[in-house]
Amino acid sequence: MRIISSVREMQQATDNFRRAGKLIGVVPTMGYLHEGHLSLIHLARRHADVVITTIFVNPTQFAPNEDFTKYPRDIERDTALAESAGTDILFTPSTDEMYPREYRTYVVVEQITKMLEGQFRPTHFRGVTTIVTKLFNITKPHVAVFGQKDAQQVVVIKQMVKDLNFDLEIIVAPIVREQDGLALSSRNVYLSESERKQSIVLSSALRRAEEYVHRGEKTPSRIIGEMKKMITAQPSARVDYISIADPASLEDVSAIPHHGSVLISLAVRFGQTRLIDNMLVYIP
Ligand code: AMP
Repeated sequence: MRIISSVREMQQATDNFRRAGKLIGVVPTMGYLHEGHLSLIHLARRHADVVITTIFVNPTQFAPNEDFTKYPRDIERDTALAESAGTDILFTPSTDEMYPREYRTYVVVEQITKMLEGQFRPTHFRGVTTIVTKLFNITKPHVAVFGQKDAQQVVVIKQMVKDLNFDLEIIVAPIVREQDGLALSSRNVYLSESERKQSIVLSSALRRAEEYVHRGEKTPSRIIGEMKKMITAQPSARVDYISIADPASLEDVSAIPHHGSVLISLAVRFGQTRLIDNMLVYIP
């Protein structure tokens, strides 16, 4: 595995691979890698000849009151994990090179970025779409892999790729969970032992919601009410939102449709730690 931190060097490397007819896959991450990230790298391997994993804790997607400075980092461990998962190039740019002093340009996707996470993190997706655009221009991939864990991010990035005519394919990887159901996240290390135990409720609530939908419940507020009851029974849990939405528009549905699918998603804080999770539920 080659480690590259300079933008120019990364662009030259990917140009050379492209000239040699290789298919390039990129997996953008903020590091502190876990099995969720590694599953994305494995998936990229199946679709590309050359897999580039990027590690960059992107300051523009954090609000001033968020956890940018204390976001977990361990580049040595990440290097070993990225390599063992099949990364060919690990791209680790510096903040100074990605955002020099006179940096002026942002990419904004309208509308869908205001829903769900956007209500609580109004500048978040502007940071995400900006960094992803930069990473696409630097790594010039044919395919890019993102996790369903960040369901809204997938919708937003697909919209951006379509609107801005990026010539690449977005591949979505399923959510990887702990044995007890908690979705893997770099932020899980923030949880105290007690919060960690309580956090199991998120996946249980999503599974309960899925059962309701499959049993034919059509009223979103009944399902959300039940989920809220389960979650708030945990003493440390504070709900930011629980939503049952159309998976494309991300707008809350007024009734569960008779066919198709709904995106059930939530954000819940346990102490200082904000966790998100979701489930895409199909109605046959
Ligand atoms: P992050 O490092 O948190 O920005 O995540 C980098 C990529 O990994 C994003 O596309 C995430 O959606 C994906 N990811 C994070 N956690 C998981 C998980 N538990 N399962 C699948 N993909 C994940």
